[in-house]
Amino acid sequence: MEYFTKTVEETIKLGEMIGDSLFPGAIITLNGDLGAGKTTLTKGIAKALGVKRIVNSPTFTILKIYEGKLTLYHMDVYRLDGIGYDYDLEEYLYGEGVSVVEWSDNIKGSIDEHLRIDIYQEDGQRKFILSTNSKKYDPVMRGIK
Ligand code: ADP
Ligand code: MG
Repeated sequence: MEYFTKTVEETIKLGEMIGDSLFPGAIITLNGDLGAGKTTLTKGIAKALGVKRIVNSPTFTILKIYEGKLTLYHMDVYRLDGIGYDYDLEEYLYGEGVSVVEWSDNIKGSIDEHLRIDIYQEDGQRKFILSTNSKKYDPVMRGIK
């Protein structure tokens, strides 16, 4: 499905709608150029999960952990490009929290069942394309109004 936003606030709202129907072990992958809105969307997801701390880009840390109704693992694997698959991340990806992975295409090897969001910058708006390889995420898609 496609979704369009014109402002940061609308992108955060989209993130909240997604975050509202996430469940333990959920994985969201975000791909799109620098400045596309991956971290902004993650802020909305974090808000829905009841995270109180400010979520910002983990570009220099790979992983940040936020406590909420569910634990949020916010990963930015931009720097893993070409290094190979990082097996350490699996412990988080397939754990009980919610994982949001910016630049997941930079991970060599595939991620199991997940919701994939590709973000494109268009004139005056952002286009979000949501797709999934698992029925588990159908309720998440249906929760977007
Ligand atoms: P990424 O994590 O993909 O690099 P960020 O979310 O950190 O991107 O940054 C997005 C940038 O684009 C911010 O500077 C934000 O103000 C700007 N922006 C403009 N329009 C939008 C929109 N509709 N949604 C999200 N961000 C937007
Ligand atoms: Mg980012």
